[in-house]
Amino acid sequence: MSPAQTDDAPSLLWLGAVGAAGVALGAVAWALQSPTKQPSPREPRSKDDDMARAQTSAILGPVWPIPAGRLRRVGESVMARRAGSGRPHKGVDLFAEAGSPVLSAAYGRVLRVVDGRTADPKKQEGLARAGLFVDVRALSGWVYRYLHLGSVVVREGEPVRAGQPLGTVSPSGGSGVEHSEPHVHFEIRAADWDRGAGEYGEPVDPLQVLPPRERVA
Ligand SMILES: [Zn+2]
Repeated sequence: MSPAQTDDAPSLLWLGAVGAAGVALGAVAWALQSPTKQPSPREPRSKDDDMARAQTSAILGPVWPIPAGRLRRVGESVMARRAGSGRPHKGVDLFAEAGSPVLSAAYGRVLRVVDGRTADPKKQEGLARAGLFVDVRALSGWVYRYLHLGSVVVREGEPVRAGQPLGTVSPSGGSGVEHSEPHVHFEIRAADWDRGAGEYGEPVDPLQVLPPRERVA
């Protein structure tokens, strides 16, 4: 046996093993991504696959919480201290006419629907400022929050897809404490409300998560 042959045999075996492992990992990755569809080697990637992918992303989001035609302007996004109040702003204000639909930005499950409109601003300032709001937990674990609503059409525990109406923009701008122009205050938090901390998880800048404005449909 020549040295070349002795070298070749193990490396071919090794390549074979790596190849098999790669195929197995690929199958696992595929199964994780699409649990209902098994891979079929005879079925090449088709237009149907592209359509299915597009439909999946349409269901999962993210999409803008206000339809493009109704969105008047985008206000201040996440900041540590907002001019005027000096308080941190943990979301983005999306201005739209009162009564405009507020859509779920992502697929998830409604965590809670809370009406703070009748809360005493002196005793429960945060709740009173939030007004009527909806929290949705997305598949990522992030919590999507929609504050200053005029009405809500979903219930706690209900699954919602991206683009599904959650409610409408309040006529009063929500609490009336800070704003008079109607808008939804949209927040993304890395984790849900922590009773011990008395706070939600770290704010994520929605403008870094939502699709670019030009592509708003
Ligand atoms: Zn705001």
